[in-house]
Amino acid sequence: MSQARFAPQFVEFLPDDIGPGVLYVSMAYAVAAHRCACGCGREVVTPLSPTDWKLTFDGENVSLDPSIGNWSFPCRAHYFIMGGKVQWAASMSDAAIQRGRLRDRASKAAHFAKRPSSARGPMEGEAALAREEASPAEKPRASALGWLRRLLR
Ligand SMILES: [Zn+2]
Repeated sequence: MSQARFAPQFVEFLPDDIGPGVLYVSMAYAVAAHRCACGCGREVVTPLSPTDWKLTFDGENVSLDPSIGNWSFPCRAHYFIMGGKVQWAASMSDAAIQRGRLRDRASKAAHFAKRPSSARGPMEGEAALAREEASPAEKPRASALGWLRRLLR
C-alpha cells in the first residue's frame, strides 16, 4: 500500500526499524530517513546538505527538496514530500536520470572545490564519498544506511 503522508519524528539517531509513515530527522547528523512511499518497504536515506536535500519544517510537517527518486530500487518511485504529503512525480527516462546524476556530481564538485584544501581532512573526504553513495541517483541505499548506522552508533 502506498503512503500518502509522512509525519516527522525528530531523533538524534536513526532507529533500526524505520516505521511506515514516519520521516525520521536527525538534525545532529543532518540526515533524514523514511520508507519508500510506494509501499515497497525499502528504506530511503536522504542526507541534508547544500548539495543533497533541504528540509523545511513548518512546525507541524516537513518538506524535502528536491524530489526523491528511488532509481536504484525496482519500484523506481519518484515523489515529493511537501508539507508531509506525498506528491507523485512522473517517472524519469534513463537519459534524464543520467543527466541528473551528472548535474549532481558537478554541483558537488563545485561545492567541495570552494573549500580551502587545508580544511579538508581525511574524515571529511570519507563523509563526502558516503554522501554521494547515499544519493538517490546512485547505488542501493542499504550500504549507505549501514554506513550511517555504524557512524551514528
Ligand atoms: Zn518503492
